[in-house]
This record gives sequence, C-alpha cells and structure tokens, in this order.
Amino acid sequence: MIRISEIFHSVQGEGRFNGTPSVFIRTSGCNLRCWFCDTRYASWEPEGDSCDVASIVKAATQWQTPHVVITGGEPMIFEELGEVCDELKKQHRHITIETAGTIQRDWACDLWSISPKLSNSTPIGYATDEWIKNHDERRDRPDVVRQLMNQGDYQLKFVVGSILDAEEVLEYLAKLGQWDRDRVMMMPRGTTVAELRLQASWLTDWCRNHDLRMCDRSHIYWFGNRRGT
Ligand code: SF4
Repeated sequence: MIRISEIFHSVQGEGRFNGTPSVFIRTSGCNLRCWFCDTRYASWEPEGDSCDVASIVKAATQWQTPHVVITGGEPMIFEELGEVCDELKKQHRHITIETAGTIQRDWACDLWSISPKLSNSTPIGYATDEWIKNHDERRDRPDVVRQLMNQGDYQLKFVVGSILDAEEVLEYLAKLGQWDRDRVMMMPRGTTVAELRLQASWLTDWCRNHDLRMCDRSHIYWFGNRRGT
C-alpha cells in the first residue's frame, strides 16, 4: 500500500516540462525534513490514505493527459510504486519522478527529476535533534544521484536562497563529476511571487555568469502556493 496525499490534474510549473498539462500523483511521507518544505502535508505532517496500485492507476488515468508526474513527499520510500510506474507505462504515459535523490530505485521512468538537498535545508530551530541528525545523515547521497542519472534522462534542480547556496551547487557538481549543463537548473527558494522576484534579482545574473539555467517556479505565479496545483 502507498500513502497518497493527492492526485490532481494541473500544469507543470518547474523544469524542462514547464507549462505541460500533467497529472500529479503526490505520495505522502518523506525521509527528510527540509525547513523550507512547501508540501508539509506530505512530509512533516503526512496526510492521506493508504491506497493500492490499481486504485492509484485508475485515479491517475481518469484524465487522458499523457504526462504523469510522481511527486511527494519522497516517492522513493514506497517500494510498490514501481508497479504503478509499470502500469502507467502500459498505458503509454510519460512519467516524471520528482525525488531528493537519497534512495535508489530502478523503476520505469522517462525523466528523473532530482532535487539534491544542500546544507541550507537542515531544519535547525525547526525540528527535533533526532530529525536534524536524520536529515543531515540522509540528505547528501551523490552516489545515488549519479546512479539515477545513469539510468536514463534526468534533470537536477537545486533550491537556492543565497549566493552561498549557489556556490555550494558548484561544489556539488564537481563531486558528481560528469553532468550535462542543459540538465542543471537553479531554482529560487520561495512560496510567494515577492520572494521569487527577490531571489531572481541576483540569481538571473549568477546563472548568466555561470552558464547555468534559471528555473523559476511558474506555478506560484499562476496559482499561488495552493494545494492541487
Ligand atoms: S525532500 Fe522535499 S518533500 Fe521532503 S522535506 Fe525536503 S522539500 Fe519537503
């Protein structure tokens, strides 16, 4: 059984398929506790019922939309989700899996959308000592990220809130070794248009100077920070 927070039809607002109508399957539960998490109902305080594979596939294919995004929370904590991917592929869906890249799975997937968490994610002052320790022990797995990148198509999305964070991305990329510049995306941290604009005021220049892509969070501009979008 897989705990599901929500299944909905919207428009992808981040990354390579920005603007693409998509069905979203949001699993509930996460092995990390980023302080800035904008889906706490699927991580810090997970909500939703446990569902079987057939009911998840049925709900996701009620729309004919070819693109399905599996997100969370952290979808990779649910072993059975591989069966959902198999069933969706039988129905010719394009699958994007959004993950923090701390758990390796060899599932049917068309785009691994990996968002490795930087040191700026540690929930100091927000979580218990135990969770701070868990978070820091689990978040940095370049070996897993590398494996996922080797399994197929990928994009790397880094959440940044300062120039220091952006410099840490460069260190992280150096650790990874080989990577494709067109698949690396710098994403401003923020859940309001005002916050995103403030971040863009320095990040656009930084991206130009480092030949890396800026990846805005378009759904915030379109819908606000709302569930089901
Ligand atoms: S990995 Fe993602 S879902 Fe989990 S706490 Fe961090 S931001 Fe939230």
